[in-house]
Amino acid sequence: MSSYLTSACRTNIVSAMPSEANNNIEVVGRSSGQIVGQGHVIISAISKPRRIKKAVRNLAICWTLMIAGIFVPMLHFVIVPGFFLLGLFMTANGYIDDIEISAGELTCDQCKSSIAISRHDDQWPIWVRCATCQIDIGVEKLANT
Ligand SMILES: [Zn+2]
Repeated sequence: MSSYLTSACRTNIVSAMPSEANNNIEVVGRSSGQIVGQGHVIISAISKPRRIKKAVRNLAICWTLMIAGIFVPMLHFVIVPGFFLLGLFMTANGYIDDIEISAGELTCDQCKSSIAISRHDDQWPIWVRCATCQIDIGVEKLANT
């Protein structure tokens, strides 16, 4: 674990995970297919209240767009049922996702600067930008970890 995590934060992450889980995983950063950085991310469990909150938020967004879609001539035949179904899917998806990337760090090989990875859904790759080199980096799990 690196120094940017306080010990209290580290304790919370560790206590939220099953004891046998490997919650600190190695990652590589790729740009145009080439490896341009290495680092690690911390995977943590999402609490049930946060998952419910996320599911309700997803439903509210989709169904608000569905209601707005009623007023679009002709396209409302597609928009309304589309956002109705998308809302159900996103709600289930928001509740089922029980892990997330809570923090991370990547070191750019070119400029050696450290890039912080903020809280993110467990969907790969994660896109970050090196502020010094101005390149977009796709962060992926390192194979064999
Ligand atoms: Zn860089």
